[in-house]
Amino acid sequence: MRFCRFNGNRLGLVEGDQIIDVTPALDVIPAQRWPLPEHDLLIAHLDEVLARANAIKAGAPRLPARSVHFNAPVANPGKIVNAPINYQKHINEAVDDKGIAHGRELKGKHITDWGLFLKATSSMIGFSDEVRLRKPDRRNDHEIELAVIIGRTANKVKAADALQYVAGYSMGLDMTIRGPELQCFRKSVDTYAVLGPWIVTADEIPDPNNLNLAIWVNGEPRQNANTNDLVYNVNKLIEYATEWYTLHPGDVIFTGTPEGVGPVKPGDTMTCEIERIGRWDVKIASEFAG
Ligand code: MN
Repeated sequence: MRFCRFNGNRLGLVEGDQIIDVTPALDVIPAQRWPLPEHDLLIAHLDEVLARANAIKAGAPRLPARSVHFNAPVANPGKIVNAPINYQKHINEAVDDKGIAHGRELKGKHITDWGLFLKATSSMIGFSDEVRLRKPDRRNDHEIELAVIIGRTANKVKAADALQYVAGYSMGLDMTIRGPELQCFRKSVDTYAVLGPWIVTADEIPDPNNLNLAIWVNGEPRQNANTNDLVYNVNKLIEYATEWYTLHPGDVIFTGTPEGVGPVKPGDTMTCEIERIGRWDVKIASEFAG
């Protein structure tokens, strides 16, 4: 199944080019008061919500997908986990282009040397929200990445079992200001974590480690690769992350970006595509954020 959060906090099923408004299915989520749990309530109750959505969808309103506003499909991720230098050809391009890594020594290194980093949850937006660039004097880059949405609490998980903990997959844009600061700072700018436009449940993607992914900027091809080139694949990333901390339902893993990263500017349109998930545009606001 494919589901989305749209037009604010409405829940949709995605079928073809239509969105079925199944918002009343959210009523199966138990009411919560402060303090909220460490997980996203929709993802933690996803099975019950989607079962209810299926039960009511026949009589539910349908809208053209082009007419709705896609919000981030995870409303309250506890963590946005990110894999740096996780495709060898991206590492190679960062060795050659000093504008990418700003003096950090990358030759012979990969993700094992750097570990994982977190983006602020406040940086997350959906595909219909515009990216608002900051720092006009800096290079602002696109990074398309397969995004993994964790469905069950995961701690010290083995790679062989890891996919059992996945709720689904989505497209991620790890927008980046290049520079010498830590990634958690440069990549946590408001609007710099784009997720969506919907989540494809894990049963529809039996092998996340063999998916084409690509991005075009204003129609010009930039990145085009396959997740089978990941240094740490999805299974290994979950094992690696949970060696160090617990993952909760709704935590998102941005799995790393392949070669072809490059700068964007206000007014650009980024067309993102990942096999078995879909193809959708993300716009960059016409002005830098004030
Ligand atoms: Mn990245």
